[in-house]
Amino acid sequence: MGAVRNQDYSLPDALKNPDDVLADVFGHAQFRGQQGDVVRHVTEGGDAVVLFPTGAGKSLCYQVPALCRPGVAIIVSPLIALMRDQVEALKQAGVPAAMLNSSLNMDEARAVRDDLRADRLKLLYVAPERLVTAGFQQMLQDAHISLFAIDEAHCVSQWGHDFRPEYRELSAIAANFPGVPRIALTATADPATRADIIERLGLEQARVFASSFDRPNISYTIAQRDKGKEQLLDFLTPRKGESGIVYCLSRKRVEQTAEWLSEKGLNALPYHAGMSPADRSRNQDAFLTDDAVVMVATVAFGMGIDKPDVRFVAHLDMPGSIEAYYQETGRAGRDGDPSAAWMAYAMSDVVLRRRMIEEGNAPDEVKRIERTKLNALLNICETTACRRQTILAWFGEVHPGNCGNCDNCLNPVDTFDATEAIIKAMSAIYRTGERFGVMHIVDVLLGKTTEKVERLGHDKLAVFGKGADIDAKAWQSIIRQIAASGLVAVDTEHGGLQLTEAARPVLRGEQKIALRRDRPKTRASRRTKQAADMTPGNESLFDRLRAERAAIAKAQNVPPYVVFHDSTLRAMAAAAPSTLDAMAKLPGIGQAKLARYGAQFLKVVAGAG
Ligand code: ADP
Ligand code: ZN
Repeated sequence: MGAVRNQDYSLPDALKNPDDVLADVFGHAQFRGQQGDVVRHVTEGGDAVVLFPTGAGKSLCYQVPALCRPGVAIIVSPLIALMRDQVEALKQAGVPAAMLNSSLNMDEARAVRDDLRADRLKLLYVAPERLVTAGFQQMLQDAHISLFAIDEAHCVSQWGHDFRPEYRELSAIAANFPGVPRIALTATADPATRADIIERLGLEQARVFASSFDRPNISYTIAQRDKGKEQLLDFLTPRKGESGIVYCLSRKRVEQTAEWLSEKGLNALPYHAGMSPADRSRNQDAFLTDDAVVMVATVAFGMGIDKPDVRFVAHLDMPGSIEAYYQETGRAGRDGDPSAAWMAYAMSDVVLRRRMIEEGNAPDEVKRIERTKLNALLNICETTACRRQTILAWFGEVHPGNCGNCDNCLNPVDTFDATEAIIKAMSAIYRTGERFGVMHIVDVLLGKTTEKVERLGHDKLAVFGKGADIDAKAWQSIIRQIAASGLVAVDTEHGGLQLTEAARPVLRGEQKIALRRDRPKTRASRRTKQAADMTPGNESLFDRLRAERAAIAKAQNVPPYVVFHDSTLRAMAAAAPSTLDAMAKLPGIGQAKLARYGAQFLKVVAGAG
């Protein structure tokens, strides 16, 4: 790849109007949300900072201006996989685009440089380390540059989780190329990271475009983990045939889970940093190109995966922070179709995560932030309110709640006055010396004479057996909830429970507390109602269209979604166009794709394919 040789469909020179470019090249009828404002601002030469969530359509924010303005746009992108997909999709749409990075051999790279010198490119994707080299800077000085786009701009910030030191040097662009518009884009919702991006890239004068970070098409479900793998299987079974990601904390757990799911008949593949690069990239390719692969992975997997039809993201272990959770679940449903985020967590996850923070090498200030972020996630796990509202509140966004698309909204939780039970649990914690974990405290409350209870003389305490009216599961739930709400703290070293200042008014009987009554484990959350409604009416035509697309993608060695998105094929199945004009009206079909694939797909629609 790389050089644009034998370009089949060259772009007419006169295209300058953003709306025309959107329709003719990308096949979309209108801009989404604030996309149009960004595009016009940048096309007219303004700098922009774009803060939109995943799936909002950030790419078009620089791709359309790149096609409206004279010259070549330079796109800085942190990952080769990202660049490759974008360039491939642009070429499919007839746009002369290329990339320069370490994956090209010398001849390929030379061809790209020749194209750049000869003004044959409209978009050039480069890795940050390449951009800042003296040689490349010189080449750019001689080129005619339309704009600079800095994708995944949070890589410039140490607060974000993908810090890339080379991004820091991008601040020099402004001085070296005065008057060339710059646009920085990210899906980071964290205010500290946003401020850092603007400062580090010298974009104080840029116009900031921020949209809601809500992802209404993603449903959120968070369950307490008891038999984790079985719960996962319950979640996955109704989703057979769909692609998704299952995140696990450790490599070992990734391998065991992938193996187990395979035994259960799912197409599950492992991915973690301990595998050989060849195995990793083989599994990643399978995920991108085959339908229905369940990728079981550590967080090493995901960044740079912009597969649009990831239908679910499951967490078998609690992520490290609310930011990480939101970013990882955000990989689902970029195409806007209904998708599911599911998590199973246990109190032991919290203890482990706390220990990871305390034992890490980060400076105290950073540890403090990490602790706060972890607590925020725990609060989301334990809340009885709308998950979406609680998540967005953390990012400073007000949502009215009752989203109707999270477990708490779909299945409102039952609460009860737990004040008396909480006082019992607290006195068990206090009387045993604030040194023991959940299990032992529950034994004491239930009046179980275990070896440990007898050895420590805890059967002599007044509170011993005072909680026998509540079962062990319910006690665990109560203790987990009071830990989440901050009434008790968990000692990171030994997992011992300790009372906090906040416990005092409750112990003195001055404050009543309602807790969630955990419902008996329900069977897997079914597909959301919308999801069922979205299934294509004409299943067999959709399948035949998909098969045609798969054959084309395979012949060209590109992922199927760069040929046509599912949403385009779904619209095609529903509209069953019989002419090229009718086909051109479908979303995601621009002039180049119409010319290239239109007739072929008309045949499939007509039943002759
Ligand atoms: P982001 O980078 O913000 O995560 P992308 O640029 O990958 O999002 O776009 C997400 C999806 O939305 C893509 O499938 C893209 O084709 C589609 N899309 C973007 N803008 C529009 C639009 N104006 N009309 C229809 N579809 C769009
Ligand atoms: Zn909700």
